[in-house]
Amino acid sequence: MHEGAIAESIVDILRDVKKDNDLEKITYVKLRVGIFSGVMVDALMFALNALKNEEEFIVDTKFEVEEVDVKARCVLCDKVYMFDKTTEVCFLCPQCNMPLEIESGKEMEIAVVEGE
Ligand SMILES: [Zn+2]
Repeated sequence: MHEGAIAESIVDILRDVKKDNDLEKITYVKLRVGIFSGVMVDALMFALNALKNEEEFIVDTKFEVEEVDVKARCVLCDKVYMFDKTTEVCFLCPQCNMPLEIESGKEMEIAVVEGE
């Protein structure tokens, strides 16, 4: 995925939030990024920081990223498996060898926006 484009769409969304809520500036933003989303957090933060300087309303915004682990559920035995950044995600249930369905870890969303 292209982090620059993602950062731009985040800023677009924040601009709408600012307008819709009659805010002068955005002070805090929390993003939730699944470790399986394909988004490189470092690259995203770099792109956001570059954009910050171009936009008055986010120049002082504190961006925070919460990384979401992968949660997968077996389609047969319903067992849930968690994978974090240090473990390799597997796609078959270690117990019954049926496919695992990814329930979280693919998201890229704006979780919290604060402004004034
Ligand atoms: Zn299973």
